[in-house]
Amino acid sequence: MTDKNENLFLRAQKTTPGGVNSPVRAFRSVGGTPRFIQRAEGPYFWDAEDRRYIDYIGSWGPAIVGHAHPMVVKAVQDAAARGLGFGAPTEGEIEMAEEICKLVPSIEQVRLVSSGTEATMSALRLARGATGRDKIIKFEGCYHGHADSLLVKAGSGLLTLGNPTSAGVPEDFIQHTLVLDYNNSQQLEDCFKTHGKDIACVIVEPVAGNMNLIKATPEFLQTMRRLCTEYGSVLIFDEVMCGFRVALGGAQSLYEIKPDITALGKIIGGGLPVAAFGGRADLMANMAPLGRVYQAGTLSGNPVAVAAGLTTLKLIQEPDFYTKLSLQTSKLAAGLSEAARKAGITFCADSVGGMFGLYFSKEIPTSYSEMMASDSTKFNRFFHLMLDAGVYLAPSAFEAGFVSAQHDDQIIAATIIEAEKAFLQMN
Ligand code: PLP
Repeated sequence: MTDKNENLFLRAQKTTPGGVNSPVRAFRSVGGTPRFIQRAEGPYFWDAEDRRYIDYIGSWGPAIVGHAHPMVVKAVQDAAARGLGFGAPTEGEIEMAEEICKLVPSIEQVRLVSSGTEATMSALRLARGATGRDKIIKFEGCYHGHADSLLVKAGSGLLTLGNPTSAGVPEDFIQHTLVLDYNNSQQLEDCFKTHGKDIACVIVEPVAGNMNLIKATPEFLQTMRRLCTEYGSVLIFDEVMCGFRVALGGAQSLYEIKPDITALGKIIGGGLPVAAFGGRADLMANMAPLGRVYQAGTLSGNPVAVAAGLTTLKLIQEPDFYTKLSLQTSKLAAGLSEAARKAGITFCADSVGGMFGLYFSKEIPTSYSEMMASDSTKFNRFFHLMLDAGVYLAPSAFEAGFVSAQHDDQIIAATIIEAEKAFLQMN
């Protein structure tokens, strides 16, 4: 008897390339059949066979308050009953912008869009429009969505599929994208010495989550800030993943560094499509209809999506939300590390806020090359053992994991017990 997931996957492949609408969902690097999800609640989701999993991807980040949180669902239902979208401004969009500006002080003005890709793509155009320069700096292994200029030596699905620079990106675009090593301040300094006056912006994930989890060193980000100021380049923090994930004020609040522009996504939509880019008011004044940098969107600031996002932003401001989230995530990382140590498996884990990394290596990687040296074959085996035991990890050795406020002690303990068994089987 075939599994319902297998049947759905076969059916999907007939009409959708690879059977999925976003590549990493296809399990290409870990192998096997993707699970087709029929419903989710709190820390769990259920596949087509009605098998329950503890979910550690949380919709790839957005589900920070847990799946189908009653208040978020109610807000969406109420908003939907008032109309699905108007293509004219709403008060909810103002509230959302006010909330973002309040929580992330470097953002003085913000524009809502519908995906992280739109946010970073528009931030890049703004930086180029404002400076009159073409070159950008990005870092190998960082993923910023799928705009052409950013699909060069990128992380996430491109890294997972072993094709870090996408086909279809014109050579002329690639030439304008300077790709440097994450956490290498000297190389950044040298690059600015050579190209400084041509550099429109530096874009970085201040906590990288698309090449597994790699934290920037404070010195790396401080150097970046200093050089951008010195050369008149725009510093863009891509906090689509780490914003409201690692702390209430995002990674910039942890590192105490003010970028010029911040890209946000995932959590600010609470599971629906909302993303944003914002920053210094003088820079944002370049955006149409005020300025000459164009960007628009039929569904930008959609009222139903904004209702989900706004409610999520309210929930994450509850007292001790991040203290508890960080504690649960660090307990998970410590428990997994201990389970591996007991089983004699070379493994370590790290976390920041509600985000974690699992590495089949001796040390926690601090660079792209160290991360690439970790054992992805071992990860694939671990992934499947955990999946069979009802724990859904990101189906790639190059993605970070996410914990929600619904991952209580019992859920974390159950995960660690399954990991102990899995590590023992890997010996
Ligand atoms: N930037 C970062 C850091 C991301 O992690 C992602 C997606 O994972 C994006 C941008 C793109 O966002 P989206 O998938 O919503 O287009």
